[in-house]
Amino acid sequence: MFDKGWEKNAFNQYASDLISLHRSLPDIRDDWCKEPGRYQKDLPSTDVIICFHNEAWSTLLRTVHSVLDRSPEELIEKIILVDDFSDMPHLGKELEDYLKAYPKVIILRAPKREGLIRARLLGARYSKAPILTFLDSHCECTIGWLEPLLDRIAKNSTNVVCPVIDNINSETLQYHYTKGSAIQIGGFDWGLNFDWNPIPEREEKRRNNSAEPVYSPTMAGGLFSIDRNFFEHLGTYDPGFNIWGAENLELSFKTWMCGGTLEILPCSRVGHLFRDKSPYKWKSGENVIKKNNFRLAEVWMDEYAKYYYQRIGNFIGDFGDVSRRKELRKRLGCKSFKWYLTNIYPELLIPDEAVAYGEIKNKFTSLCLDFQSKPLAVNLWPCHGTNGNQFFTMSKIGEIRRDENCLDYDMKNVTLYKCHGMKGNQFWNYNTDSSQIRHVWSDTCLAVNEKKDKLITEKCDPNRVWQKWYMENYDAKKLYGSHGNTSIMTSLK
Ligand code: UDP
Ligand code: MN
Repeated sequence: MFDKGWEKNAFNQYASDLISLHRSLPDIRDDWCKEPGRYQKDLPSTDVIICFHNEAWSTLLRTVHSVLDRSPEELIEKIILVDDFSDMPHLGKELEDYLKAYPKVIILRAPKREGLIRARLLGARYSKAPILTFLDSHCECTIGWLEPLLDRIAKNSTNVVCPVIDNINSETLQYHYTKGSAIQIGGFDWGLNFDWNPIPEREEKRRNNSAEPVYSPTMAGGLFSIDRNFFEHLGTYDPGFNIWGAENLELSFKTWMCGGTLEILPCSRVGHLFRDKSPYKWKSGENVIKKNNFRLAEVWMDEYAKYYYQRIGNFIGDFGDVSRRKELRKRLGCKSFKWYLTNIYPELLIPDEAVAYGEIKNKFTSLCLDFQSKPLAVNLWPCHGTNGNQFFTMSKIGEIRRDENCLDYDMKNVTLYKCHGMKGNQFWNYNTDSSQIRHVWSDTCLAVNEKKDKLITEKCDPNRVWQKWYMENYDAKKLYGSHGNTSIMTSLK
């Protein structure tokens, strides 16, 4: 039972089934959220669209009940469950019978596996409410979650808003509240992976209270509310997207670029069961996401698309026809991706502005630094010259980076750690004359070990050829503090 539950769902279904479908959760909203008159009266109503593919009974129904139990009745028109061609028996007649007691909840069944993106569009097309609210099928809404979302959209229909997504532990099902100070906003890296980042200082300054809405460059994707007309105005999602992936960045980019605002609302809390892996069958996993990403990059990223291509080794596969999506962008008169990066996501390091970008090659062995994501590590591998996993940058403050991770020597090992921006263990200096990469703090040099299978540091000695490196596209003039360069802001993430 226990193992089966894990296998089918990639979370502890056994524990989930033991927990009440109406379990109570404490209210930890900031007082600011509860001040009288905080939200306008006569809020517009919403449909809640929940897509699912082979979701467990208890998580699906806890999602539904948390919406029904914790939302003002008049604000919910319908809960639209979109069954994306599930084949688990409990999701058939048993579900329909159970839901007869809840007339607001309806089930739409996709006639074939559509994937998350087209399943959401199916729900959206059915919806009649002025606002659409999307949730994953393993969420729990907390008290007061809905009003802040609807209020922001009532104030301005181009506001696209997300709750703070709290973590429901996949092993214990415990609900973990994100403290106000730990709330993060959405970003992405040049591999077009979504990531979370701390709230930048500029954004802290713009707000008077930490419970106020936070601008976010991107959304995680599953949980948000949007004005239905604005969603349609933006051309909903690219219908050429398959199954899962890229749709959250597409909607984020175009919200900002085409006249809207994307916010995370600390007053609105919804738990989401985060899992380490996906439990469903995917036709050809990686390629689906890549194809979606190509479409995204081609339509929305202008001259910056090349950084994504660089990251995946410049192999661009077939991505179908995107001319209609380009027309859409033109018709809406959207701003450029450069505008978006400069104004909405200035923290993102742009490879061309880096001191070096590309491969870091050991001249003696022709081995390159090679990135490994799980577990996070940096290995040595024969240079292949197509970037991909061998793509690194040097930031203006001397970090050797792979997105938000930095090459770090902790006096024992050379590894990757989340960049902290404080130099120390993550501060490197490249000497173009001797070709050495020096770890400044320990005054040692980056080298390949004798067995040629490990990155080490050792006493600097210009005669040791295994300490000699080539850093692609290195330009010392771009270093912070060098002549003509005074902007440190863009180098700190
Ligand atoms: N989903 C779906 N069809 C699919 C894949 C996913 O309807 O082909 C649903 C899934 O049940 C969930 C939502 O889409 O409600 C998001 O998927 P998932 O939770 O796996 O993504 P994650 O939250 O892990 O990013
Ligand atoms: Mn999910």
